[in-house]
Amino acid sequence: MTDETDHADATQHTPAETEPVDGAELADRLVEASVLTEDERANDLVLADRFQYNWRRRIEHLRGREPTDFLGLLLDTNPETLTVTDEEGLTVSQQGVTVGEWPSEAALVADVAAFVTLGEVFPGWDDLRGSTRDELVARLRVFLESCPACEGALTAEDAETAESAPTVTCEDCGAVVF
Ligand SMILES: [Zn+2]
Repeated sequence: MTDETDHADATQHTPAETEPVDGAELADRLVEASVLTEDERANDLVLADRFQYNWRRRIEHLRGREPTDFLGLLLDTNPETLTVTDEEGLTVSQQGVTVGEWPSEAALVADVAAFVTLGEVFPGWDDLRGSTRDELVARLRVFLESCPACEGALTAEDAETAESAPTVTCEDCGAVVF
């Protein structure tokens, strides 16, 4: 995916971040970058059309490829050093240390596609802390309208306990999206 590793604004440099960024500020920044937009009828944030279109195209492009192909990009490491286990979700480890977990390959595909698409539009993306980038990417997954793996409808299931979040799964292939 050579066309996806070039970040067009690499010359525009903002100072590297040192402090974690809170959730409200992350949302503000996503609006500023035209990733999210205010839906006045719902009085809530929704994906901006253009971002949604580009994100979906990337998801389609990545679907069906080996996860290790793009995990190296997401985790900023050599994919050959990564081990992926698929038991009740994907766990990615490097030399015995867990470096990433996703509820399904579908969720991973959505995140990698969001990562690449955000990298193109988000000011100063390359200078953000890794944890901030991870949070921005994970935050977008709740805006998915169909399954990243098969386009099936997504449905929320009630949380198992009062503390846990509801689970969202695909009605067609059963992938857990989050
Ligand atoms: Zn599905």
